[in-house]
Amino acid sequence: MRHEGDERRAGRPAGHHEHADHKVTVDGARDVLKDHGMRYSRPREIILTYLLEKDRHVSAESLYLDLKGRGEELSLSTVYLNLSALAGAGLVREFRGATGQALYDSNVTPHYHVVCADTGEVRDVPAPLVNGVPLGRFLKEYVERETGWTVDEPRFSLTGKPPVGRAGGASED
Ligand SMILES: [Zn+2]
Repeated sequence: MRHEGDERRAGRPAGHHEHADHKVTVDGARDVLKDHGMRYSRPREIILTYLLEKDRHVSAESLYLDLKGRGEELSLSTVYLNLSALAGAGLVREFRGATGQALYDSNVTPHYHVVCADTGEVRDVPAPLVNGVPLGRFLKEYVERETGWTVDEPRFSLTGKPPVGRAGGASED
């Protein structure tokens, strides 16, 4: 569904639309919600803006605490509800962390995770291409051809350890 009449925002090129496969920008949070048919609300904008500031892998609780530290008065249940709505619209991606807890990822481009077995640190790895398609989609299509089943695209999460002697410790940037 396109909304060509909504290109009011100054500096936003006409005809430009974010899609779930591409990075969305903080600046466009309100438009992004609208483009995904989501009702605009202040909590949604706050949460989406926070997530889009950089690539983040956060739990609902840590997101809630960070926002609280910034003086935003959102309840934990509001955070939960809105994260799940944003995930449903493909604007954030839910995944399981090292201990199986639900985490939210602001990077919705095709990528996989390596998770430190000790600290739970998460690092993004761009999806390698096989025959020109991301590995997970390749596997999905392969299994569908072989079985006739309809299967979900797998999202890989590999556990491991970061390089020893890495300067500066954990960094997600
Ligand atoms: Zn990620």
